[in-house]
Amino acid sequence: MKILINAGHAPNGVPDPGAVGPTGLRECDVTAKVGAKVQSYLRNAGVEADYIQNDSLEVICDVCNEYKYDLFLSIHCNSFNESAEGIEVYTTPGWTQSDTFADCLMKQMSDTFPNLTVRSDWSDGDIDKEAGLYVLRGTACPAALFELPFISNPSEEAWLRDEHNLDEAARAMARAVTDFMQ
Ligand SMILES: [Zn+2]
Repeated sequence: MKILINAGHAPNGVPDPGAVGPTGLRECDVTAKVGAKVQSYLRNAGVEADYIQNDSLEVICDVCNEYKYDLFLSIHCNSFNESAEGIEVYTTPGWTQSDTFADCLMKQMSDTFPNLTVRSDWSDGDIDKEAGLYVLRGTACPAALFELPFISNPSEEAWLRDEHNLDEAARAMARAVTDFMQ
């Protein structure tokens, strides 16, 4: 079982930093930190885990499919307005192995961060929805996209600046991967 971890948006924000918080925190930097940590924790646990951050969604899907990964995790920060809050996970429609993986992710994250709101509503104005669907549709293996808290919300942007939170989030996602593998 080998997993491809995708940090959302472009490396160093060129050309696409993703969403940018009220004090300038960039989504691409948060996702890169968390993605690299997830990879590191999984490798320490003996899991074959690779990491990709690339502006081209097509390249990401091609790498996932050509190298026959068994699992795909894309990491983003949510963004909408100053009051939207919480964590969310996306899969393609219908019940598949991807949903089992998504459940593992949300269980570990909500257990680790009981104060975060768990969102299950697709009807908000999430800017990533289309990009998320692209990588979830384009990858052949079970795939989920996790949205960390809202970078557009000042208090959640502060949450995303906290290195301890990012480290705990990465540990939770790594545990979710090993939960799914069992
Ligand atoms: Zn994003």
